[in-house]
Amino acid sequence: MNCLDKGLICAAETDLPRVVIVGGGFAGLNLIKGLKNLHIQVVLIDKNNFHQFLPLLYQVATSGIEPNNIAFPFRKLFEKYKNVIFRMAEATSIETASNKLNTTIGSINYDFLVIACGSDTNFFGNSGFKKFATGLNSVTDALDIRSRILQNLERASVTCIENDKKKLSSVAIVGGGATGVEIAGALAEFKRYILPKDYPELKGIEMKIYLIEAAGSLLQSMPEKLSLKTLKYLSDMKVDILLNTSVDSFNGGEVILENGQILNASTFIWTAGVKGTPVKGLSSESIDRQNRILTDDFGRVLTLENVFAIGDNAILKSPGYPNGHPMVAQPAIQQGKTLAKNFVRLIKNEPMAPFEYQDKGTMATIGKKKAVASIKKLEFSGFFAWFIWSFIHLISLIGFRNKIMVAINWTWSYFTYDKGNRLIIRRYDEKR
Ligand SMILES: Cc1cc2nc3c(=O)[nH]c(=O)nc-3n(C[C@H](O)[C@H](O)[C@H](O)COP(=O)(O)OP(=O)(O)OC[C@H]3O[C@@H](n4cnc5c(N)ncnc54)[C@H](O)[C@@H]3O)c2cc1C
Repeated sequence: MNCLDKGLICAAETDLPRVVIVGGGFAGLNLIKGLKNLHIQVVLIDKNNFHQFLPLLYQVATSGIEPNNIAFPFRKLFEKYKNVIFRMAEATSIETASNKLNTTIGSINYDFLVIACGSDTNFFGNSGFKKFATGLNSVTDALDIRSRILQNLERASVTCIENDKKKLSSVAIVGGGATGVEIAGALAEFKRYILPKDYPELKGIEMKIYLIEAAGSLLQSMPEKLSLKTLKYLSDMKVDILLNTSVDSFNGGEVILENGQILNASTFIWTAGVKGTPVKGLSSESIDRQNRILTDDFGRVLTLENVFAIGDNAILKSPGYPNGHPMVAQPAIQQGKTLAKNFVRLIKNEPMAPFEYQDKGTMATIGKKKAVASIKKLEFSGFFAWFIWSFIHLISLIGFRNKIMVAINWTWSYFTYDKGNRLIIRRYDEKR
């Protein structure tokens, strides 16, 4: 009988306290780094066998970089972490009364449980959007978008009906936050520099890039000046920006807006919202409207002593952040680091320290030479902001090889205006 038959994950039995962490994203990884080689057994459960760097997903989706440049295998990452065990599995439910986590490969008992499952695309309950739109929350989504755009362009180049050529080559992006803006900018460059060379059959057909936002401005978390700059940059790049506009439905080739207008576009990308992804088994009082898990100042799930939630799937309300922290990398990284220090305190029977968020600013890039950045009270735009953006993203990538590969890709594309990864490796299934 193997351990799976007994319903257990083969995590070596030990007298050490066991911390089970679900999710090896920014929050989970930074927690693990803080616990490495301590007298604690750490078990990471993740449904993938790799960490993914979500901020550069849009570059995979738009053929700028390879997916393996933004992913890193957990087992390689933990080679030198003697107390860390990795298991590839999806957490399915928690039994808090018996300190047990159930997963797709069995159950495991914990002394402490940390839920760091991140977030998922929020289609706000619209099953039509969920079925027809492609979200962008994982490497798989990014490959779907890349394939969908390229497959549609291939179809456009063989049809003789001009209207179908237009539909198939056009893209509608819903959501004017950083992800929507970044995809739109990258596609505008694709349209300008790649399309005429790769698809001579589409000469005279305008590939439309629509960016649709329900609010009155792009990048709403940024100062107004930078939001207006972004609008100008994208308009100059011939992106059609529709503000104060909501989408009613999509039928595969047409996006129908709530005001009755119809946009011809066969690729439909949804970046308009995210929601938490809590594991089942927590009380409904500890889940907020955005599906995030409510925690106290220490990241402890309300009413539970030994279950914590950090990162995007957690919401810690404080006077400075009454609606919780933004769902971006820095709160997740900082919560992971703080919780690691608190586990060390707990083990020494010392009181835990509350989490305090240090806001390091926000930024977004528009194409490969322009960006906007708001850091502390300073605002940057244009090439200098793009340089800061590139530097920060490059040093944040995990793995030396990944940093080098991305730097080479960026330098190549900077000088040649080329995007070398326009491959349909796995086809996007329209009927999925
Ligand atoms: C397209 C995109 C662009 C972004 N750009 C930026 C940016 O430029 N700057 C910025 O600061 N932030 C950006 N963000 C947000 C940032 O990436 C997130 O805030 C951050 O990743 C949250 O970290 P996390 O650890 O909470 O979750 P994640 O990094 O999402 O990690 C969650 C992990 O949990 C695993 N998991 C999920 N469910 C289960 C389960 N049931 N069982 C087992 N494992 C599970 C996943 O496989 C994943 O490894 C972006 C996000 C997206 C989607």
